[in-house]
Amino acid sequence: MATTKHILLLAGDGIGPEVVGETVKVINWFSQNTATQFTASTALIGGAAYDAKGTPFPDETLEAAKKSDAVLLGAVGGPKWESLPIASRPEKGLLGIRKELGLFANLRPAICFDALADASSLKRDIVAGLDIMIVRELTGGIYFGQPRGVETLPDGTRRGINTEVYTSPEVERIARVAFDLAAKRGGRVCSVDKANVLECTEMWREEVIKVHKASYGKIELSHMYVDNAAMQLVRNPRQFDVLVTTNMFGDILSDIASMLTGSLGMLPSASLGVSGTPGVYEPVHGSAPDIAGKNLANPIATILSFAMMLRYSFNLKNEADLLEATVRKVLEKGLRTGDIMQDGMKKVSTTEMGDAIVSELQKTALQKAV
Ligand code: NAD
Repeated sequence: MATTKHILLLAGDGIGPEVVGETVKVINWFSQNTATQFTASTALIGGAAYDAKGTPFPDETLEAAKKSDAVLLGAVGGPKWESLPIASRPEKGLLGIRKELGLFANLRPAICFDALADASSLKRDIVAGLDIMIVRELTGGIYFGQPRGVETLPDGTRRGINTEVYTSPEVERIARVAFDLAAKRGGRVCSVDKANVLECTEMWREEVIKVHKASYGKIELSHMYVDNAAMQLVRNPRQFDVLVTTNMFGDILSDIASMLTGSLGMLPSASLGVSGTPGVYEPVHGSAPDIAGKNLANPIATILSFAMMLRYSFNLKNEADLLEATVRKVLEKGLRTGDIMQDGMKKVSTTEMGDAIVSELQKTALQKAV
């Protein structure tokens, strides 16, 4: 009997509807050609939700997300909503869904497709074949810790305060995500901290070691200070398999890693909560107002986010492998959207890239049953 998975589509603003639209073509292909049926519904988020409902994260969107098996999100934001009060801005929709679903683990893979190795700011021999995963803790740490704020002291000087806070269960659950991922990949985890200076991350390191000892003896665990990790990511990024780190360190390191791979238009991500909670899958890029509505956006980051959904929410490894290999093939054939265009390659639109990926999936399926 075919299994059915329900996906909530939150297209959002700017290029969001365009890149999600191309991904829907891919989802439909998988639904028609594999053992899993995918159904989809849509809801509003971001500026589009504000315009229609007066809030960037309507209650019905949260209800629809909770009922789904996974959420595919495009992007939110744009100049139209920039002058709104912070609570009404489109970005509040993103923070809202992450908070309400308790999505504490942010997975950001950095994969360098061979065909695009020359688009990286680093030399080809450093990035070719790169395939690393950064696991960032998303709901704790200094971005949420109390006390926080800015105060004026009696002598008139000002003092700004933020607090790095983690509890042992918060560290344990993110460490488990990293070890479980490593078990499905290269079997290695590097935990990144600043244990030489920050007591909170010294505790982080001790808790990661405890989880490792108790349950993950087969995984190789190493530790690295964040300053060294930043350097190693640009010196020799292929030494890593899975990196796990705090909210702020992960924010910075994942942006460094993203630049190793060429373009924003190629980068998928996943945000996951406790087992049974729907994960949210989205491209790393924003709503790109400069190219919105022009059929110029690269849909690959969103299509690869669906590949992550297949792998991590639905445990469909073969299907995820097929989709990633298909994207690789299309790039090897020389098709490029504007953001990844290179000399001698064929420039295609958003819709042409989506169609090319579906037609390549079809060809592969004819050669070999999925
Ligand atoms: P952006 O990621 O939207 O765009 C940065 C640059 O990259 C632009 O030149 C854009 O054209 C290009 N680009 C981005 N995605 C692309 C794609 N798929 N294909 C081709 N080119 C692409 O970042 P920004 O310009 O700083 O922000 C624009 C809006 O998006 C802002 O309102 C911002 O708040 C919002 N934003 C949203 C998210 C999100 O939804 N997760 C993330 C970042 C920014």
